[in-house]
Amino acid sequence: MEKIKCLICGMNININNYDFNNTTMVEKNIENNIINCPFCGVNRLYFDNNLDLHKTENLDSNIISIFDKAMKLEIFNGQFYKEASKMAKAEDIKKLFKELSNIEYMHAKIHKKLGGLKIEPNLFKPDYSKHDTDELLLKEASKREEHAIAFYNKYMREVSSEFVKDVFKALIDVEKQHKHISQNK
Ligand SMILES: [Zn+2]
Repeated sequence: MEKIKCLICGMNININNYDFNNTTMVEKNIENNIINCPFCGVNRLYFDNNLDLHKTENLDSNIISIFDKAMKLEIFNGQFYKEASKMAKAEDIKKLFKELSNIEYMHAKIHKKLGGLKIEPNLFKPDYSKHDTDELLLKEASKREEHAIAFYNKYMREVSSEFVKDVFKALIDVEKQHKHISQNK
């Protein structure tokens, strides 16, 4: 396998990791057809070995505050999925939530890096115990993905930076896949 780098999360994709987090993807990666980044889930349109998106731009304070909000949203969802993976009863749902948690935490890392954010916030942890069946957990997952899609859509329109628009567009596609999968389990 040739060397592949994801521009959005900066990870290198190779023979040992191409199938990570496959349960979160509508079309699964196989060895000779890598469709999505196994770490952040973005489409292969964003694979490039020669560019480094993370160093391209000076950001104004408005964009930094948007990255801060985005980071918090992704950590919040990452925490939910981590809890959900412990609470779920069916093995395949547990695995799905664990892998969704990996992807959302990676999104948080992307925002942290792009926004040059220093602090990992200690977020309020809600009580998830009312979601006491796999069906309810999946319903909550779908709601959160819907919210994330709306968030990125809103800010994609507000920001002037083409680069930030691109990142949010890439992530919207990922969250849409998550929504689709959580509604069709
Ligand atoms: Zn990636």
